[in-house]
Amino acid sequence: MRAKVIGGGFAGCEACYQLLKRGVDVTLTEMKPLKKSPAHHLDTLCEVVCSNSFKSDLLDTASGLLKAEMRLLDSLVLDVAEQTKVPAGGALAVDRYAFSAEMTRRLEAFPSFNRVEAVETSLSDEGYDFVIVATGPLTDEALVPALQKVFGSKFLYFFDAVAPIVTAESIDLDSAFVASRYGKGEADYLNCPMDKQQYLAFYDNLVSAETVQLQEFENNVFEGCMPIEVMAKRGVDTMRFGPLRPIGLRDERTGEKPYAVLQLRKENIDGTRYNLVGFQTNLKYGEQKRVFSMIPALREAEFVRYGVMHRNTYIDAPKFLDRNFQLKTDKKLFFAGQLTGVEGYMESAVSGLVSALQAYRIFSGLAPVPFSSETITGALCDHVSSDFGEYSPMNASFGILAPLSEKIRDKSQRKIAYSHRAIENMKKTVINI
Ligand SMILES: Cc1cc2nc3c(=O)[nH]c(=O)nc-3n(C[C@H](O)[C@H](O)[C@H](O)COP(=O)(O)OP(=O)(O)OC[C@H]3O[C@@H](n4cnc5c(N)ncnc54)[C@H](O)[C@@H]3O)c2cc1C
Repeated sequence: MRAKVIGGGFAGCEACYQLLKRGVDVTLTEMKPLKKSPAHHLDTLCEVVCSNSFKSDLLDTASGLLKAEMRLLDSLVLDVAEQTKVPAGGALAVDRYAFSAEMTRRLEAFPSFNRVEAVETSLSDEGYDFVIVATGPLTDEALVPALQKVFGSKFLYFFDAVAPIVTAESIDLDSAFVASRYGKGEADYLNCPMDKQQYLAFYDNLVSAETVQLQEFENNVFEGCMPIEVMAKRGVDTMRFGPLRPIGLRDERTGEKPYAVLQLRKENIDGTRYNLVGFQTNLKYGEQKRVFSMIPALREAEFVRYGVMHRNTYIDAPKFLDRNFQLKTDKKLFFAGQLTGVEGYMESAVSGLVSALQAYRIFSGLAPVPFSSETITGALCDHVSSDFGEYSPMNASFGILAPLSEKIRDKSQRKIAYSHRAIENMKKTVINI
C-alpha cells in the first residue's frame, strides 16, 4: 500500500507513523526547510510553534484524558513528548528542539519513509492508494487554489497569537517565587507577582499600547488563544480571572496571596528560557518590551522572541468530511489536523492518528474503527463531521463527550467519571485494532 501525506506537522507526522508501523510505504511532502511559514523556524518535522506546553496530563482534565486515550492508541507524538518533557507541574511540556528532532529521527528510521521537500500545490492522488492533507493552520497559499476547487469558498479564518520568551538569567528572582498552582506537581513555574498598584499601572499601559495593524478578520479571535491586550480590554479584572489569576498561588517569602501573578514556564530542559504563559500578543515589539517590563520580575527581561499573531485557516469540515476524516466526495482524500477545525497540538495529532488508521483499514478492506462518542477521540470525530450550523474550532473538552448516564453533582467527581468511562471504552476499542 502506498500513501502520501502532505504537511509534516503534528497531524502529518502522527499519520505517517501510524501508516509506517502498519507496513505502508509513505511519502511525506513537507515544504520546510525550503519554505517556512511565519510561525515555523526549525528545519525538523513536527514543530511546536507557540507554547511548549501540551496542557495537563491529569485525568481530571479533558486534555489529560485525551493523552490517556492517545497512550492506548500508541501515539508517536505522545511518546516523544514524554521522552523530551521539561518540568511543568501537572502539565506535559516539552523541549521544543529535542521534541522536533526526535520526531524526525523516529520517522526517518523507517526504511519505507520518503520525505520530499516541496511546496505542494496539488491534491492529486496519482500513484498512491490515498492522500492525507495535513498542512495546518498556516497552509501555504500555493495549495489554496487546489483546496478551493474542493471546498469552494467554504474556508474559515481566525487569528492565533504567540507568547514572548525571555532568558532565565534576565528575570529578577528577588521579585519572583517558585510554585505550582495549588502545589500540583513539582514547583515548576516562576511566578511574577504584582500588587494592586503595579497591576493597575500595567493594565493602563497594556490597554493603550500600540498593536500591529491587522489586515483582515481582526475581530475573529479564538477564545482559547486570545491576545492579552484584547483580553485586558474586556475589563480591568479580566486578566486576574485569566492568565494573571492569583488563585492557588501563595508567595512563601511573604506568606501573602498576590493581587495578580504572571506565570513563567520553562521553555527548554536546561531552563535557560521561559515563556510568559497566556501572554500571546499582537503588540508592537517595542511596546511588548516597554509594557511587559513593568512587571517587577521582568524589569530587566531580555526577550529571546517577541509575541506575534498569525492567520489561521480551517475548512468547514462538517459539510465535507465524515467521521473518518475522509472526504465525502472523493474517498481517496483524507484531511487531518488544525485544517479540519480541531484546535491544539494533541487534538491535531489524534486527528492524524485517526485519519491514518481509518484510511489504512478502509483501503485494506477492513471496517473503520467505531470510536465512541464517550471518548475525546470519538467526540472530535463527531465535531468535524456533525453539521450544527456555524462551525468553529474545538479543543478537547468534557463538554463534547456523550453525557453520563447518571447525574454526578460534584464537579471533580464528574470529570473523573467521564475519564474512567472513556478509558474503559478505549481499552475495549484498541483490542480490535
Ligand atoms: C501562531 C500560532 C500559535 C499557536 N499556538 C498554539 C498553542 O500554544 N498551543 C496549541 O495547542 N496549538 C497552538 N497553535 C495551533 C497549532 O498550530 C496546532 O495545534 C498544531 O501545530 C496543528 O498541527 P497541524 O499538523 O494541523 O499543523 P502544523 O503543525 O502547522 O503542520 C503543518 C505542516 O504543513 C506544512 N505545510 C503547509 N503548507 C504546505 C504545503 N503547501 N506544502 C508542503 N507543506 C506544507 C508546514 O510547513 C507544517 O510543517 C498555534 C498555531 C499558530 C499558527
